[in-house]
Amino acid sequence: MPESAEEIHARVVAAVGEDGRLPMPSMGEWDVFPWEVVDGAIAPKRLARPAPEKPRQGEGGEGCHACAGFSGVIWENERWVVTHPRERGGLPLLLFLQPKEHLDLTDLDDAMAAEYGRLQVWLHRIMGNLPHIARVHVDKWGDGAEHLHTWYDGLHVVAA
Ligand SMILES: [Zn+2]
Repeated sequence: MPESAEEIHARVVAAVGEDGRLPMPSMGEWDVFPWEVVDGAIAPKRLARPAPEKPRQGEGGEGCHACAGFSGVIWENERWVVTHPRERGGLPLLLFLQPKEHLDLTDLDDAMAAEYGRLQVWLHRIMGNLPHIARVHVDKWGDGAEHLHTWYDGLHVVAA
């Protein structure tokens, strides 16, 4: 069950005080994070020279974290799995949809692509009808890992 906005606020204040300022998430140290502090102010990073792409985690299925096993499974069938990545949290709810087989988006055949589309709509509909969820964002980047993983971020609604 997703937390309400009030529950999350109370948890943050209990953890970091009335200032309510959370520590910078680890993504602030990622190479692709576009901002940096310059002379005490936030500024866009300088545009880097073009360079070859770095290999993604699990390229060609070698050492793929997803293929090694899924954790936080909340639903699955023979081809797909939905997980709740507890280590990432999500405010108030974050879910991943992944094929069980090592596939990227463009590897899906027509049957898998059709099922992927239906599952996306179902997940969006289910999450959007949970308490404290106003909207659902669907994200597919694939920059970090080759194994297809689509993010479903439930966003808050605050009671009037
Ligand atoms: Zn994989």
